[in-house]
Amino acid sequence: MNTHQIAIIGGGLAGLTSSIELALNGFDVVLFEKEQYPYHKVCGEYVSLESFDYLNRLGINLTQLNLPIIKRLKVSAPNGNSLAHDLPLGGFGISRFTLDNLLYQRALDVGVNVITGCKVLQVENHSLTTTHGLFNAQLVLGTWGKRSNLDVKLNRSFISSTKRSLSNYIGVKYHVVADLPDDIIELHNFKDGYCGISRIEDGKYCMCYLTTGDNLKEHHGDIRLMEKMVLYKNPYLSHYFQNFKPLYDEPLAISQISFEGKSIAQNGIIMAGDTAGLITPLCGNGMSMAMHAAHLLSQTIIKNGMDETKIITDYGKKWKATFESRLKTGKFIQSVFGHPTITNVVISMLKPFPFLVNRLIKQTHGKPF
Ligand SMILES: Cc1cc2nc3c(=O)[nH]c(=O)nc-3n(C[C@H](O)[C@H](O)[C@H](O)COP(=O)(O)OP(=O)(O)OC[C@H]3O[C@@H](n4cnc5c(N)ncnc54)[C@H](O)[C@@H]3O)c2cc1C
Repeated sequence: MNTHQIAIIGGGLAGLTSSIELALNGFDVVLFEKEQYPYHKVCGEYVSLESFDYLNRLGINLTQLNLPIIKRLKVSAPNGNSLAHDLPLGGFGISRFTLDNLLYQRALDVGVNVITGCKVLQVENHSLTTTHGLFNAQLVLGTWGKRSNLDVKLNRSFISSTKRSLSNYIGVKYHVVADLPDDIIELHNFKDGYCGISRIEDGKYCMCYLTTGDNLKEHHGDIRLMEKMVLYKNPYLSHYFQNFKPLYDEPLAISQISFEGKSIAQNGIIMAGDTAGLITPLCGNGMSMAMHAAHLLSQTIIKNGMDETKIITDYGKKWKATFESRLKTGKFIQSVFGHPTITNVVISMLKPFPFLVNRLIKQTHGKPF
């Protein structure tokens, strides 16, 4: 049996950043990732500047990548009624293909034992059954993202939830060639969904939308048909989908996304990132939240050593204080946008009051950490 101090399940942003931070602080870390880097992920790829300094501290030199810095927001209702606003903090654009791979390379450099192409199948009493054999660890961290085989194995409550309004979303992503400014993120609403577009590295743009599984079902599971019948009703999206050139033939899609509340620890597994709670993508800071949670968890481990009970209590308090109200505001915003008439009314009401827009954005974001 392979034994390590800390085992991390899932090498997305939360898993990779915590592995690097813990290894830099002298811990013996093994990280399991079921895919092989680099690979594409469904994500809007707009990263709030909250995490810029943290990534630099971990040894990712973002400045030399010359990434687009995004300072402005445009939001439109399904009928095209729009509002523009300067972002209080802003963000940068980078594909997950590039960002996750940079973190993976850094994790290897600092001595993390990263096992790729390896799926964790079961965890019991700190013992992990994987496709690459059995492993044992004093601490097990769960950073496997929005939904995985392990959520089913653990029988987590959001898996069996019947609240369709919170648990049945799909995400679709394209990389496109577009003629838009490089410092803007645009969010265009359509019936039961919204589509974001912003620049990433190498002059490309990421166009990514979230909608309900029911919306797709109504269009016979045909993504292109749904886009034509629903998304094209927004004049911005109609123009973008018909004129921006996709960089790969088929979009990347995921289903069964849930925004329901989750626990931060279960069966001796301590969770961070989307595994602990997912904010609606409309807020544009799930990635920074995943990294922030990973940082809070790593710092708690560095402070408390291997005392699992103390780590869960301390980290649980910090997690709640940092993210709970953001997640609530995110859910509220998600419930308002998506209804064609309500979205239009809300945008018209917000237009003359930029301080209210500022407030909403700030309530879903934190400070640099
Ligand atoms: C449509 C959409 C658009 C979004 N747009 C944005 C945006 O523009 N900005 C933003 O900040 N956030 C956005 N988000 C949110 C953001 O993508 C997530 O919050 C972020 O990826 C969370 O990181 P994570 O590390 O928790 O999980 P992930 O990045 O999902 O990583 C989890 C990893 O675990 C691996 N894994 C899963 N199960 C196992 C297993 N059993 N064994 C081994 N490995 C496993 C997976 O392969 C994956 O690599 C968006 C989300 C969606 C759905």
